[in-house]
Amino acid sequence: MNKWKRMEDHLCMLRESHLYRTLKVIESAQSSHIRYQGRELLMLASNSYLDFCGEPRIKQYAAEILEQYGVGSGGSRLTTGTTDLHIKLEEHLARFKGREAAMVFNTGFAANSGVLPALCRDGDVIYSDEYNHASIIDGCRQSRAETVIYRHNDMDDLEQKILARPGRFGLIVSDGVFSMDGDIVNLPRLVRLADTYGLLSMIDEAHATGVIGKSGRGCEEHFQMEGRTDVLMGTLSKALGTEGGYICGPRPLIEYLKNTARSYIFSTSLSPVTMAAAKRALELIEAEPQRIQRLQQNIRWFCQCLQQQGLNAQSETAIIPIRIGDEAAALQASEWLLQHGYFIPAIRYPTVPQGQAMLRAALMASHTREELAGAAQAIAEAVKAAG
Ligand SMILES: *Cc1c(COP(=O)(O)O)cnc(C)c1O
Repeated sequence: MNKWKRMEDHLCMLRESHLYRTLKVIESAQSSHIRYQGRELLMLASNSYLDFCGEPRIKQYAAEILEQYGVGSGGSRLTTGTTDLHIKLEEHLARFKGREAAMVFNTGFAANSGVLPALCRDGDVIYSDEYNHASIIDGCRQSRAETVIYRHNDMDDLEQKILARPGRFGLIVSDGVFSMDGDIVNLPRLVRLADTYGLLSMIDEAHATGVIGKSGRGCEEHFQMEGRTDVLMGTLSKALGTEGGYICGPRPLIEYLKNTARSYIFSTSLSPVTMAAAKRALELIEAEPQRIQRLQQNIRWFCQCLQQQGLNAQSETAIIPIRIGDEAAALQASEWLLQHGYFIPAIRYPTVPQGQAMLRAALMASHTREELAGAAQAIAEAVKAAG
């Protein structure tokens, strides 16, 4: 009897449907230019939107903390894993987001999947956008609350679904910037619905922090409605260039989550080095808002370049989808781009629905206009070659 047959059959099915995943091994620091298979490529896929992974002042500070504190935290947050650097970062995050308090989780995934089950339970209801991140979906499942999926960013659909369940305690949760399509949540209406019907509002700012809003503070700043969301979730792993997730909110919320979120309680905390690097990244965002402006200029410029190439590209965020549809064609276009010096992966099912494969370009503040114009031209050629 072959114990592995079920797995082998599954892999075989994935290969046949062009959904088999492999790793691309990068041989350099994450930046706008990377080394891959011995060649230099233009990186147009990284979540390190402000190009902070290798920023000299962040590295310098992290190196000092590494020397002082070593490499690990030695325990979970509630045992031995809380250093003064963890606390300082949390205080800074709370200030940056205009909240009373903040807490750091080991990843954004752990934040979402731990917080939703801590806030909602059997008998409650969670309203979740159909395009929300996998970590939100897992959090909903683990909560055992009734999860009601509403149509993508469709606030009329959301309201109807709320009205069909009167008087229930619950929460509305949405990505702030959607991770595959790069569009922005309708925050004004979402918050109004939450307040009208007595529900908590929760926004995931993974791709919003450091990207949208005049000074990179995210969705609330973008809509000029500071302080209006009940539960603000974000990550240190995207524009901030390090790793980790966080929740910001009123002090009772944060104290409650420290006592109840299992992914916070039962996991070894991040290293002091990571906390220090993230804090320095926040300081740089505040001290040098021109990085955010450069990123936002790049977004406008790149969309314009793609449109000039006849491609339908629109985004206000660093995520710019180029829609292809067919999985094999998207893979082929991505492969063509790799051969021609551009790192832009194809995004396929199950990350996006079947038959809606795309190239997903992600911009950095450090990309030059020339690089982006060249990339737009290459993308147009790749799409033609794959079509
Ligand atoms: C990346 C991402 C997460 C997970 O964050 P990690 O720090 O990578 O675990 C959560 N939500 C959204 C919307 C994301 O894009």
